[in-house]
Amino acid sequence: MQATIQNLVTLQGIDTKLAEIEMLRGDLPKQVESLKAELSELKEEIQSDQSSIEAFNKEKSDISNEQALNKEKLTKFQDQLYKATSNKEYEATSSQIEHCEQENSRIKLRIIEIDSKVMEMEEGLKPKVEKLSTLEADFQERENELNVKISETSKEEDGLKERRNTITPKIRKDLVSKYERIRKAKNGLAVAAIVKSSCGGCFNQIPQQIIIELKKKDMIRTCEYCGRIIYLNDADLASLEMGAMSKMTS
Ligand SMILES: [Zn+2]
Repeated sequence: MQATIQNLVTLQGIDTKLAEIEMLRGDLPKQVESLKAELSELKEEIQSDQSSIEAFNKEKSDISNEQALNKEKLTKFQDQLYKATSNKEYEATSSQIEHCEQENSRIKLRIIEIDSKVMEMEEGLKPKVEKLSTLEADFQERENELNVKISETSKEEDGLKERRNTITPKIRKDLVSKYERIRKAKNGLAVAAIVKSSCGGCFNQIPQQIIIELKKKDMIRTCEYCGRIIYLNDADLASLEMGAMSKMTS
């Protein structure tokens, strides 16, 4: 059991150092993540606007061709109208002309509509494109900053993770889960040394009975106040014994 306690203490030490590295990086990873998300959202928005503009321009070019054909038809019908030899022919051609003219004004209106929509969208795109370049620069800067911080600490971090991987399998699985559970719930500290008879995690006094049990080093005990795994380190053990001795001699 003593080895288990020692392993838990070591594991806690490793995790505390890893948490310190994490702290050093601060909220940079989060900032980089959120900038990245914002960037991709904006890029998508710009792309979607650009493809709408393209679609409008395509429609405009299609209906402009239609308009040109329609004008040719109109000229042809107007010629036919002068050459009409019967009322029936005259009326039929007139109605064709009317139809062409209606088509022309429909196309004209649609082109005006498209032009104004495209103009509006292009105006709307300008600030988005400007924002994109600012955002990209910001993202690049933060990412570089983060990469520098990561490279400064990554060797240490890798070493710690490696030690963690070696030590964890040496501890009983249920104890590891317990450790992880407490660590999550208790701000990263799952294993606390007893300092001057108090829990090093919550500073509450540990009952003497438990300290006596812990001295035997044959079981895992948790603090009854905060639930952390508690242990006596050898220095404290010595000072406790000194205290007991001085109590006896005084
Ligand atoms: Zn406690």
